[in-house]
Amino acid sequence: MQGMQSSQHPGSNVIITIDGPAGTGKSTVAHNLAARLGLDFLDTGAMYRAAALLALESNIEPANGSALATKIHEVGIKFDWNQDPPGILIGDRDVSKRIRDLDVSEIVSIVAAQSQLRAELVSSQRQIAQEHPRLVTEGRDQGSSVFPDAVVRFFLSASLEIRADRRVEQLENSGTQVSRERIIQDITGRDRLDTERADGPLVRPSGAVDIDTDSLSIEQVVDLMESIVRQTTSEAGLKL
Ligand code: C5P
Repeated sequence: MQGMQSSQHPGSNVIITIDGPAGTGKSTVAHNLAARLGLDFLDTGAMYRAAALLALESNIEPANGSALATKIHEVGIKFDWNQDPPGILIGDRDVSKRIRDLDVSEIVSIVAAQSQLRAELVSSQRQIAQEHPRLVTEGRDQGSSVFPDAVVRFFLSASLEIRADRRVEQLENSGTQVSRERIIQDITGRDRLDTERADGPLVRPSGAVDIDTDSLSIEQVVDLMESIVRQTTSEAGLKL
């Protein structure tokens, strides 16, 4: 990815990655950090969720990676960059809200463990980074595998209790009532599959900046990240 940093406008390409398990607040902090720094924001989980929704709607087995990859190639999963945060589309249909439902959450990690499917989406992510070379991208494998040369690679963590509370609140705010038990099951099940898979597992990237978000507000996490990014990019001679 060294070439990516130096293509087009040397010194102005900036990739920041944020990884961590479900419910650590990655999407919210990544979106806020991108806004503060004037960078674009990529939610890679939304791509895996759209793939899972496509599996549900097309009656494709979640573990059938090759059929799913073919289907994605056919219909296309892409972002609408005119929205903030960018909307996620299957073909021309906006599924940004639908992909947050629990039926999607419950199969997404099975879908995400399939190598052919990951290859397809990782290739799209790298293509997106070519088109949006000033980017905050979040997921599970962004700093460890997709963009290992990103100038700052964050790894977020939080206790299961806090992560479950946050997810319940997030779903309730969007009008979905769920039991805390079901959320704990969803989170622990996904963490296990995401950590144990062979391809692009959830792992702390080497040289990552660790942030435990248990006792920090979103604002505090973003403040901390912003100052680390400003300092590191300035030391690296990169323009923000
Ligand atoms: O981040 P979010 O919880 O929306 O991600 C949904 C799922 O997508 C994760 O549990 C994981 O299985 C998968 N995912 C992944 N690699 C990424 C981002 C998400 O495997 N880079």
